[in-house]
Amino acid sequence: MLKIDLDKCIGCGECEEVCSFGAISVVDEKAQVDAELCSLCGTCVDTCPEGALEIEGGQEKGQVDLDDWKGVWVIAEMRGDAFAPVTYELLGKARQLADELSVPVTAIVLGHGVKDKAPELVARGADRVVVVDNEALVHFVDEAYAKIIAHLARQEKPEIILAGATATGRAFFPQVATMLETGLTADCTGLEIEEGGRNLLQTRPAFGGNLMATIVCDDRRPQMATVRPHVLKPLEADTGRQGEIIDFEPPQELLDHRVKVVESVVEEAEGPGLTDAEIVVAAGRGLEKQENLKLVEDLAHCLDAAIGATRAITDAGWISTNHQIGQTGVTVSPKLYIACGISGAIQHLVGMQGSDIIVAINKDKDAPIFDVATYAIVGDVKEVLPALTKKICKERGVDV
Ligand SMILES: Cc1cc2nc3c(=O)[nH]c(=O)nc-3n(C[C@H](O)[C@H](O)[C@H](O)COP(=O)(O)OP(=O)(O)OC[C@H]3O[C@@H](n4cnc5c(N)ncnc54)[C@H](O)[C@@H]3O)c2cc1C
Repeated sequence: MLKIDLDKCIGCGECEEVCSFGAISVVDEKAQVDAELCSLCGTCVDTCPEGALEIEGGQEKGQVDLDDWKGVWVIAEMRGDAFAPVTYELLGKARQLADELSVPVTAIVLGHGVKDKAPELVARGADRVVVVDNEALVHFVDEAYAKIIAHLARQEKPEIILAGATATGRAFFPQVATMLETGLTADCTGLEIEEGGRNLLQTRPAFGGNLMATIVCDDRRPQMATVRPHVLKPLEADTGRQGEIIDFEPPQELLDHRVKVVESVVEEAEGPGLTDAEIVVAAGRGLEKQENLKLVEDLAHCLDAAIGATRAITDAGWISTNHQIGQTGVTVSPKLYIACGISGAIQHLVGMQGSDIIVAINKDKDAPIFDVATYAIVGDVKEVLPALTKKICKERGVDV
């Protein structure tokens, strides 16, 4: 919460001027804050010439006692009635990090009717589960989620908090970092503890994916990171694991928000979803024209696979951007990835190189995609794909 020291305030109005949210007004030569509008961004704090503004619970640079912060947290994400798979992936990594730091793993789950689900988080690696089960949280609302998690973090002081780099995580997690005045590394592909210390080494692609940057938040806590789905491996469920389940009943001010959810609609997709598919057949510019996408669709149909695409062809409007795989698309790690007429640019590779088996079809024997391929087929997709489809359909008894 933003606090104003009225003895120090000289009513200069600089805070009112810089506030983008219209949360501050100067009345009778003293600044006043409207807590409803204040986003706790801290711009006014940095601007005030008298040092009259302070975010309560905020951290002074260089004055954070890092030893006060202990434990690894994972924000569990619900997808309908079940946990999003990224939750289990994060718990697997959290378990490893926590074991190295000799601290417990805590999962935080918010929603309505979620309490019964808590044991699943224990089975996947959590030592403690904090359940925030409230009717007001039946729909995801970023503001309420952010306030509750920031509140819990101020109370319990975890040293690391992880969330999925999903639409949900991307919506609320930066707000939590702002409220806690700490750093956040988005879209990490690797997380490790520094040798001989407690800092989290957060690795992510930078400069268009041309190099990997390792980011350290060494003077603030908690250390916060989001990780894309399908980058980390989950632990097998162990129903014999024991853990503590704690209920937290949030006070009303944490549940208050400015969003009214009118309707929640689940998008219906044809065939398996791209990020969850076991087999992905992906199309690139080597298909030469949009009509030839049919060759990829036929093979995908035969294999009950999802269809992926490079940015070259989503930009060209051949297929919707929902199919784009890579740095600015989704990350996939299926059992089988078939790359059809794809060159293997780094921005594409970062989204698919975790696949178990990669089959690449390209007429250029030196194409970079072959560097990551398990099997290379050097040939024209217009000839290879129909032959492959015919053979596989026959084997599987599927009509195209
Ligand atoms: C900031 C940034 C973000 C980006 N994000 C993404 C992203 O998320 N995902 C992504 O995919 N890209 C992304 N890109 C674009 C990326 O750099 C490449 O341009 C893109 O992946 C190339 O797509 P492509 O392989 O389909 O096309 P091309 O690079 O044009 O390759 C076509 C390939 O097809 C082969 N070929 C041609 N004809 C045939 C044939 N008849 N039979 C067989 N093979 C044939 C060619 O030999 C070639 O290797 C991004 C770029 C930038 C700068």
